Amino acid sequence: MDRTRFFELLDPVIQSPKRFSVLSHLNPDGDAIGSSLAFAQFLRKLGHEAEVMVPNDFPGFLSWMPGASGVHVYDREKDVCNEILCQSDVIMMLDYNSLSRSGMMSDCLKSLETKKILIDHHRDPVESDFYCLYSDTQVSSTAELVAEVVLHYGSQYLDESIATNILVGIITDTGSFAHSMYRPETFQICAQLSAKSLPYNAIHQLIYDNFSENRLRLLGYAIDHKMEVLDEYATAIISLSKEELSSFNYQVGDTEGIVNFPLSMQKIKMSVLVTERQGIIRFSFRSKGDFSVHELANKHFNGGGHTNAAGGNVSTSMELALAKLHDILPEYKELLNPSHNP
Ligand code: 5GP
Ligand code: MN
Repeated sequence: MDRTRFFELLDPVIQSPKRFSVLSHLNPDGDAIGSSLAFAQFLRKLGHEAEVMVPNDFPGFLSWMPGASGVHVYDREKDVCNEILCQSDVIMMLDYNSLSRSGMMSDCLKSLETKKILIDHHRDPVESDFYCLYSDTQVSSTAELVAEVVLHYGSQYLDESIATNILVGIITDTGSFAHSMYRPETFQICAQLSAKSLPYNAIHQLIYDNFSENRLRLLGYAIDHKMEVLDEYATAIISLSKEELSSFNYQVGDTEGIVNFPLSMQKIKMSVLVTERQGIIRFSFRSKGDFSVHELANKHFNGGGHTNAAGGNVSTSMELALAKLHDILPEYKELLNPSHNP
C-alpha cells in the first residue's frame, strides 16, 4: 500500500475521538517502545484515548523514556490488557508484522474483529489482515515512519516527549546511525526531531551509559570465554545458558548489543548470539553486506526480521540448538565465505 492510500484510509479513522490500543512485539526494543509511545502521545494530542501494550517486559535502560511507566506489560497484567483490547475501536501494531510476534497476546488478538493498522519496517508483511498498513523496509526504523505520520499532519504535533521517543527508536535501530541508514531523509527527519527533543548527547547517554557492573562483565565474559570463531564460514557464535546468565544476575536487556561486537572483526560476516530463556532458545543474528540473516532465520529458526538483523527461536535444548546452527552453516558457505579453502 503506498503512502497516499495509507493516509486516505487513516484520515477518517483519526477524525473523530476513538479508543486505540498501540501494540508492539515480544522482547520489545528501543524502536518498539519509542515508536509506540510516540504514536500514542500523538493520538492523545488529536483527542483520542491511547494505551500502549507489549507482550513482555522491556529493558530497564529504556525505563526513563517519556511515558514508559504507563506501558502495559501483557504477561504481568493479562486481565487489564484483555479488557483494554476488547474495548478498543482500533488496534495499532507497530514495529512487527505478524501476529505470532505478539506472544501471549496473539490468541486475544486473533479473536477480535477490531480494525487493525500496521506501521512497520520489517520484511515480508502479511497484507491481508490489516485495514491499512504503512510498511517500508528502506526506512531505518518504525519510529522514523511514525515521525513521517506525525509530520504529515503537521510539525505542531511534535513535542519534547514525542521527538525524544522517536529519536530513541531511530538511534537504537541504527546503532547510533551506523547501520540501516538507507536514505538521506533519515538525517533530515532527525534534524527536525532534535530541534524539539532532549539534547542528542543526553539521549545517547541515557540509552548507552547506564550499564550495571554485571552487564559489562557479562559482555566481557561472552566475548572472552564464549565466542566461537568459524573462519570457514566467516561466522562468530556466542552462546549463553540460563546458568551463565543468572551468574551475572541477568536483567532484561543485559544481552542487548552483545551480538554486534563480533562483526567488528573484519573477517566476520555473520554473528549469532544464542541465549537460553524460559523454555526456549533465542537466536539473534547480525550480518554485514548483502548476506540475509532474515532468510536464514526464516528458513531454519521460525523467525525473521531484516537483511542484516534478525531473530528466531527453537524449543529444544541449548545443545541441540547449537548443533542445528552448525549443521546449516555449510548451506551458506558460498555466500558467507566463497574464497575460503580449508
Ligand atoms: P534481535 O536480535 O535484536 O532480537 O532482533 C533483530 C530484529 O529481528 C528486530 O528487528 C526484531 O524485531 C526482529 N526479530 C527478532 N526476533 C524475531 C522473530 O522471531 N521473528 C521475526 N519475524 N522477527 C524477529
Ligand atoms: Mn524496528
